[in-house]
Amino acid sequence: MTSQPAITLTESPAPIRPAPAANVVNIERPDRELRRQLTRFSKWMYRLGFAPGTSGNLSARLDSERILATPTGCSKYLLRASDMVIVDLNGKLLSGSRNVTSEIGMHLAVYDSRQDVQAVVHAHPPIATAFASCGMALDMPLCAELLMTLGKIPLAAYATTGTDEVGASLAPYVRDHDAILMANHGLVTYGKDLLDAFMKLETTEHFAQVCLAAHELGCPRLLEEDAIRKLQQARMRYHSNCRI
Ligand SMILES: [Zn+2]
Repeated sequence: MTSQPAITLTESPAPIRPAPAANVVNIERPDRELRRQLTRFSKWMYRLGFAPGTSGNLSARLDSERILATPTGCSKYLLRASDMVIVDLNGKLLSGSRNVTSEIGMHLAVYDSRQDVQAVVHAHPPIATAFASCGMALDMPLCAELLMTLGKIPLAAYATTGTDEVGASLAPYVRDHDAILMANHGLVTYGKDLLDAFMKLETTEHFAQVCLAAHELGCPRLLEEDAIRKLQQARMRYHSNCRI
């Protein structure tokens, strides 16, 4: 890969995020349906090569007090609906025969900061993780579609997995981003449901592949400032429409 070109990207105002409705986290949803979705997206994540071995974890809000999550130490391909665990907002196991992942603190830090978030996905997709391991954020203005949807994808400082350091490292970015690279670790994405969070994971890895290929080709053509500004304005409209 050639050396990284100097890139300057004007900071844009954070996208307009309407205040969440008062009952946004109080809607009881069927436990069974969420378990089915967690199983489905776990397998999908594994098949894409984003969660080799027993790595990666997914979670979703059950209600205002409880989170349903994949357990520790299980292949995401082999997970069954009955394997899921229920934890409170401090990560304490409330229900389930398996153990809680040591990375649950990452999920809880996102839920705590973003009341609009209903699902969190964490994985180690190889190309995005390679960028994170090289200390590189995915903030190059290369693809119009990505600038309109996810915007810049920041890189959080390295933190020891399973400790409070992880939440602290994500804190500067959680409010204004829906996808965050974690230095020398992987990627966390989140959204209004599991499908939304998963698509952001997939989109980020695809963008990382495009960035890598463009740099290998040796001639990435970054979007001009004027084009970036228009896309950022379109992004604010896009988020306003999506969050109504
Ligand atoms: Zn991890």
